[in-house]
Amino acid sequence: MPESLKNLINMISFLPWIWEKSATKLAFFLLHSNKNYLENFREALVDIKENIWYCAKCHCLLDKWKKLCNICSDENRNQNSIIIVEEYLDMLSIEQTWAYKGTYHILWWAISPVNWVFVWDLNFESLFKRIENSDNKVEIILATNPNIEWEATSSYIKEEISSRALKHKTKITRLSRWLSAWYIEYADNMTLISAIKERKEI
Ligand SMILES: [Zn+2]
Repeated sequence: MPESLKNLINMISFLPWIWEKSATKLAFFLLHSNKNYLENFREALVDIKENIWYCAKCHCLLDKWKKLCNICSDENRNQNSIIIVEEYLDMLSIEQTWAYKGTYHILWWAISPVNWVFVWDLNFESLFKRIENSDNKVEIILATNPNIEWEATSSYIKEEISSRALKHKTKITRLSRWLSAWYIEYADNMTLISAIKERKEI
C-alpha cells in the first residue's frame, strides 16, 4: 500500500469512534473523491482552527470576527438567568428544546484533579464577574452531569458565591433529578424540558 494512503488511514484511525476497517473505507472514499471536494475539506479543517473563537461573555464557540454570541446580545433573552454547562454541546442540546429563554456560561471542563483539571482551568472568574456586574438578582442554574467531577464543580461555585459575598444577589438552582441518570448531551427533549421546568433551589 502506498505510504500516503497508509498515512491517511492512520490519521483517520486517530479519530474517536472510528474502527480500523472504517478508517480504511473512509480513506478509499477520500481517495476516489473529486479534487474540489478534497480542497474544500482541507479548507474546512484549517478554518476550524483559524476562524473560531469564544464569546466574550458565555464562552460558547463563535466566528472570530464577532464579540458576543446571538444569545448574549439578544435583549429579549433573560440576561439574569445563566445555565452553567460543561460543554458547548450541552448548550446546543438545551437550545434545541426551545424551552429556555435565558443565557449560558460554558466552563469547558469540570474540576478533576486526578485528570489535572483544576479550578483555574475553568471559566469561573468571568462567571463571578457576570454576577458582580449585574444590577439585578441572577439565577445560576447548574446543569450538572451525573458524575463526581460535576459534584465538585457545583460545590466550588456555591462556596465561592458565599465567600465572595454574592449570595444576596444570586439564586442557585439545579436541574431537577429527572436528569440525574442522564448526561445532558444524550437526554431527550422531554427529559430536558422537565428538568429545566422543575429545577430546584439549592
Ligand atoms: Zn455568549
